[in-house]
This record gives sequence, C-alpha cells and structure tokens, in this order.
Amino acid sequence: MAEDYITFTIGEKKNIALIAHDNEKPKLIEWCQENYEILKHHNLCGTGTTARMIADRTGLYIKAYNSGPLGGDQQIGAKIVEGVIDFVVFFSDPLTAQPHDPDVKALMRISQVYDIPMAINKATADFMIQSRFMNEKYDHQVINFRKNVSDRAKNL
Ligand code: PGA
Repeated sequence: MAEDYITFTIGEKKNIALIAHDNEKPKLIEWCQENYEILKHHNLCGTGTTARMIADRTGLYIKAYNSGPLGGDQQIGAKIVEGVIDFVVFFSDPLTAQPHDPDVKALMRISQVYDIPMAINKATADFMIQSRFMNEKYDHQVINFRKNVSDRAKNL
C-alpha cells in the first residue's frame, strides 16, 4: 500500500526564492551582498521588483517572476508545488498592511505543506545559510499527493 509520505531530496544546489516587502528590501539586498559568495553557487529567483533590485545592486544572476502584488508570490508558490523551488527567504513586513496579504499567507502555507525551509527574517536566514545542509543533499518527507488524491476520491 502506498505510503502517506514520500521522500523528496533538496539537492546540493538549492533553488532559492528571494522576496522582500518594500520596507524590507534594503535589508534583503544587504543580506545578499553579505552572502554573495554562497548565493552565487545556487539558482536564484524572486518576485519582480526584489529580483531586479538584487540583480542591479549585487550582480547576482536571479530569475524574476511577476511583482508580488501582481501575482509573483503565487507564481513562487506554484513552483514549490511543482518541485522547482526548494528554499525561500522572504523578508516580510510585520508592521505594514499588504494588499496581497492572502497571497503572502498562501505562500507561507504551501511552504509548510511541502516542508520547504523558509526564513521570514534576517536571523532565520543567517542560521539557514550557515547550515551544513547548504552544502549537502537533504532528504525530507512530503505528503504523497497521488495517494492523497486517490484516498480522497475513494472516501469522500
Ligand atoms: P516585489 O514583490 O518584489 O515585486 O516588490 C514582493 C512582494 O511584495 O511580495
């Protein structure tokens, strides 16, 4: 019988999404500058404005999705579901209401569902990027979506 969870592997080379709300963008850019030597060995992407600013100010190569309020967070969430993104640094702003708050919550939720490492502040990002797992493969358990669908279709 199929198991409830299956093992996914986050490779040595991480697929990292970088996102910052407007008030947090300077902090994330500085963090990228500080960690340039590590970040340059991974695949980077981000929401539109964040990605453009990081590329301009650090010289890192980073793929840009749409701007966050225009659906960029949802695109990144969809890539997590597809297994294309496996690491998220999201400096969200805890003091300012965001028009796309539901999208932000959805991204956090889908990161939890897929057991994706996600930093929502600088201290967590520092701990994550200094982790030994940055240089290793990491196996983790993710809900077996095929079994989940087949069980639900049978039982609901
Ligand atoms: P931005 O989007 O990088 O396009 O500003 C980030 C966000 O607000 O989610």
